[in-house]
Amino acid sequence: MDMKIIPIQVAPPAKSSAWYQTPSGEPRGFIQPHALDELWFHTGTACNLACPFCLEGSKPGDTRLQLLRFADAKPYIDEALTLGVKQFSFTGGEPFVAKDMLRILDYALQYRPCMVLTNATEPLIKRLKQLKPLLQRPHALHFRVSLDHFDATKHDIGRGAGMFDLALQGLRELHEMGFSVSVANQMLADSTPSETAVCFSEVFRASGLPEDLHRVEFPDFHPPGLDVATPQITTNCMVTYQTEDSRRAYMCAFSKMIVKDKGRMRVYACTLVDDDADYALAETLTASMAEPVSMKHHRCYSCFKYGASCSEMR
Ligand code: SF4
Repeated sequence: MDMKIIPIQVAPPAKSSAWYQTPSGEPRGFIQPHALDELWFHTGTACNLACPFCLEGSKPGDTRLQLLRFADAKPYIDEALTLGVKQFSFTGGEPFVAKDMLRILDYALQYRPCMVLTNATEPLIKRLKQLKPLLQRPHALHFRVSLDHFDATKHDIGRGAGMFDLALQGLRELHEMGFSVSVANQMLADSTPSETAVCFSEVFRASGLPEDLHRVEFPDFHPPGLDVATPQITTNCMVTYQTEDSRRAYMCAFSKMIVKDKGRMRVYACTLVDDDADYALAETLTASMAEPVSMKHHRCYSCFKYGASCSEMR
């Protein structure tokens, strides 16, 4: 008997009306995805640290987003390759709390370069030996280490006593092993950009690192689920204040993030928004690419105002 296989069409989840309109009824600004250059994985909100400002609300044992397993990641790595992905990137929580992290990297590095955002403290440091063989894979592995402030005392206020020195140790060891590294810090209210640059380069030099180490600065994104008042971004704003080129540089225009929420894998619009179900675009990357992304979340304003981006590809 001939059996015809009919593919099941999964409709995208219904969106709230706020996805489409501002509170005053104007049409929202949207970003139209044009490529999947970078695929991010959220490795889960468990972390060895409990920083009060964490945009993910991560802390030890946290399960808001669950730990990524190899079996969760592999189908998305495979699908992303069919869509022309150029890089895989990983964020948390602390990615090295996820016990499958090395296996996932080992697989992904066969196909594309990878980047891992890490606090470079104990979970990473105790796996340095296991990371070494990854230097021999066909593609490069890059680490971006969080250093909130160039002043150890100020860094440790949020992250805990001794964490600045530990993060610098992890960063230096990665560099000495031959991995490429960069640093992420918060925009500092108590220092001008040029003072910040000079002070970080002094810290890097004193630690045996290149003083011109690449640094990415982020505004305060606020903890997840917070209702932060920001100006609303309308369609008109996106045409008046942005260009075709600047719209294409938004993360949600060229990347996606895979999230494990309530045990289900979902494709979210970007790395910055995983606390609003409207941004769960689809269950497959292919379906997600057809979905325009609304700029309704308060973090979208950081992209609009500062050009905020977790990516190092643009
Ligand atoms: S936070 Fe930025 S990248 Fe993410 S959906 Fe909003 S505009 Fe796009």
